Amino acid sequence: MLDTKTLTIAKARKGLLEGDFSAHDLAKAHLDIIKKEDSEIYAYIEVFDDVLNEAKGADEILRKKKESSHILTGIPIAFKDNILIQGKSVTAASKILQGYTAPYNATVSEKLKDTGAVFLGRTNMDEFAMGSSTENSSYGTTKNPHDTLRVPGGSSGGSAAAVSMGGALVALGSDTGGSIRQPASFCGIVGLKPTYGAVSRYGLMAMGSSLDQIGPLGRTVGDVEAVFSAIKGLDPLDSTSIDFASDTKKKDRLIVGVPRHLMEDGVEDDVLEAFNGALEKLATAGHTIKDIELKNVSYALGVYYIIMPAEASTNLARFDGMRFGLLKEGDTLLEDYAITRGEGFGKEVRRRIMLGTYVLSAGYYDAYYNKAQTVRELIHNDFEEAFKTVDVIATPTAPTPAFGIGEKSDPLSMYLSDIFTIPANLTGMPAISVPAGTVSRKEKDLPIGLQFAAPHKQENLLFSVGKSFLNE
Ligand code: GLN
Repeated sequence: MLDTKTLTIAKARKGLLEGDFSAHDLAKAHLDIIKKEDSEIYAYIEVFDDVLNEAKGADEILRKKKESSHILTGIPIAFKDNILIQGKSVTAASKILQGYTAPYNATVSEKLKDTGAVFLGRTNMDEFAMGSSTENSSYGTTKNPHDTLRVPGGSSGGSAAAVSMGGALVALGSDTGGSIRQPASFCGIVGLKPTYGAVSRYGLMAMGSSLDQIGPLGRTVGDVEAVFSAIKGLDPLDSTSIDFASDTKKKDRLIVGVPRHLMEDGVEDDVLEAFNGALEKLATAGHTIKDIELKNVSYALGVYYIIMPAEASTNLARFDGMRFGLLKEGDTLLEDYAITRGEGFGKEVRRRIMLGTYVLSAGYYDAYYNKAQTVRELIHNDFEEAFKTVDVIATPTAPTPAFGIGEKSDPLSMYLSDIFTIPANLTGMPAISVPAGTVSRKEKDLPIGLQFAAPHKQENLLFSVGKSFLNE
């Protein structure tokens, strides 16, 4: 029996090449776990009906090309439900897109298809990626495989839970303010938010266009790196995409900056203790720990909750009942819009559209939106300054372990769980969350994450420090 809970791309690749199992066996083993576990966990909105067929195709490639096939050939991968795969439904977990079929492939889907990876299905998420718990899905809540009374994090909670329960070898998520790293941390896996532009956003449903990035979730840094290598790169279909193939350094002993002043309140005691333990481990491995100050970063959350709703409100204007998915008719065109959007969007999405419309309105634009952009620049400068003296910056990924389902019904307390992840989206720098042990809550061991951020295009530094920390 294949143990899909501990499998890595490297192990699977070896098994596939040595003929220990086929891509079909591998896909079947994942489908079996999904069948067994997912009625409770609910990581998937849809498991595709052609998985085994695709796996047979991958076996064919492996047979013909052997070692010269792509490292992802035959690897089962799950997709967050906001990434387009031609011919498949895609809904961003929203009622407003029920019945909508993707007319084309996202660039990442196209690239992964070309590798011969096997697409398992689409995973649950907070509606339009707005949330930190996957509770805002119109399909119901995903549960954390480590404790089913708790959330898996969000918004890519379905992708994180799928990997964590052994129902996918790797998965794709999107990260606008922490939606890959925070669920990775809650579910005990690795999650990477790449440099802004490193991965094409073509075919990703836009939330906050200046913040969004697609990235991988997996069980090891090596797995995440392999998927990242396959999906990154300049794309003529996304004018914000960048090419940085030749621009990354490798370094074994790093200077790790620690902004301790950001952890003075709000971080739970044992999470902080585990973080300090992680720093000690890094020091023992030969890295240097250095205190740093990031003066304006305490404003990051406030800045984010102005810029993100502003961008989301304009991006979501396209859902008018005419072009995509749901249409609810009223007596006039204006009523059609109002009823469709009122019924099609969930509460959190409506809240953010209203916030965004307000901060962009003629009377308030300068006071809110422009001011937020100015402070965003200051935050960016703080990091640029800090990276003159350190290679990477470490913080906890989130101030707490996974919280209980229904526990954060007040949106503001939910927003606070992104306090450490948001700066990377505001500045565009890459950041990774790696598992850093567990803390205990109500007799359950719950994973927590350690986050590293690096200067733009320096993903390799994240991979080296992450591997060093996890002894990969
Ligand atoms: N939790 C954050 C929010 O609700 C981040 C979401 C995301 O990264 N997509 O906006």
